[in-house]
Amino acid sequence: MPSLIFRKGLNLRHEVAGALAESYHSDLVAAIKDNGHEYTSGRLTIRLAREFGFCYGVDRAVDYAYQTRKRFPNRPVVLTGEIIHNPHVNDQLRAQGIRFLTDAGESIDALTPDDVVILPAFGVTIELLEHLDRRGCTLVDTTCGSVLNVWKNVKRYAADGFTSVIHGKYWHEETRATASQALHAGRGHYLVVLNRDQAAVACAYIRDGGDAGAFLDRFERAVSPGFDPDRDLQRAGCANQTTMLSSESLEIGEMFRAAFRDRYGDADLAARFRAFDTICSATQDRQDAVAALLADRTLDLMIVVGGYNSSNTCNLARICEPRLPTYHVAEPGCLLSASEIRHKSVSGKDERVSAGWLPARGPVVIGLTSGASTPDNLVGTVVRRLEELANGM
Ligand code: SF4
Repeated sequence: MPSLIFRKGLNLRHEVAGALAESYHSDLVAAIKDNGHEYTSGRLTIRLAREFGFCYGVDRAVDYAYQTRKRFPNRPVVLTGEIIHNPHVNDQLRAQGIRFLTDAGESIDALTPDDVVILPAFGVTIELLEHLDRRGCTLVDTTCGSVLNVWKNVKRYAADGFTSVIHGKYWHEETRATASQALHAGRGHYLVVLNRDQAAVACAYIRDGGDAGAFLDRFERAVSPGFDPDRDLQRAGCANQTTMLSSESLEIGEMFRAAFRDRYGDADLAARFRAFDTICSATQDRQDAVAALLADRTLDLMIVVGGYNSSNTCNLARICEPRLPTYHVAEPGCLLSASEIRHKSVSGKDERVSAGWLPARGPVVIGLTSGASTPDNLVGTVVRRLEELANGM
């Protein structure tokens, strides 16, 4: 029996609006927006980025998850994994009885046609989708339109004989889903590059060739099955995970363009290389807003709120760190005291506690932003906590 797929919600938007507002809205954040994105209290001034928090794709995915629970109150509702990379949001869904296939004891093979399965905003691999279809589950697809746009591009690359070079994290759900699309029924190939260093290795191979075995060792988990760099790097099209650092993606695209031009010359470039910027507009807007905030030279420090495994949140912190002290916090409880803060290191994966983060005396100006998967209520609570700590309340 083919699975039933809901792709445009379940016509219960108004019915769940109250519950969504209760879970994620903040009156304080709304008031700060109305006040020109600035908040002052005692010696504290907070400047909030012009664009921050839930993006359109996350808004829609969470909305559909709430609609799903409402529409199927008596059926098991299951997520393939985190709906978005924010622990608070995922916990809210668990509290409604929604299960996560990635949790211990869960198995896709135990699903039955009675199960309603929600696909996350970053999409799932073709393989997983086919598996769910074989189980006969009802599917609620929340894949973001901007992710679908990336898929459209990599499928076109494959159809035209181009290998997809994806700037992204090969382990990230979205990139895994995009890579599966790039295979395009066995006709395509992909290479995932994480950063400039990896791009430089691939570009050197395009220019001069090299040791295929060493190349495959280096990109072992980041290439399509059967990838042959001598064959599959003759034509390439660039795409990106939608949440990467936009400036880095553009630079990587230019690195590949230059490598193909050096190897094959200008005349052959169009036949060898294509690029399509697939950073989504929400990611771009949040990164631009942070850059604008940093232009304000009065900031003493920056707080970035969001899940530690949220790619777009990590990239917001990366933009800030070279300019001023930056603390990526997962939730308000990370603001331990006026002297200590728990946060993720911007360049690494570890969580640490830093001392002396908040200037002890005098006026303090803090820049604040949050990732596309961070609800406003968390930002509002961070504002209140900053107020308490700065003013000794
Ligand atoms: S970050 Fe961009 S691609 Fe991802 S869900 Fe949000 S809008 Fe869609």
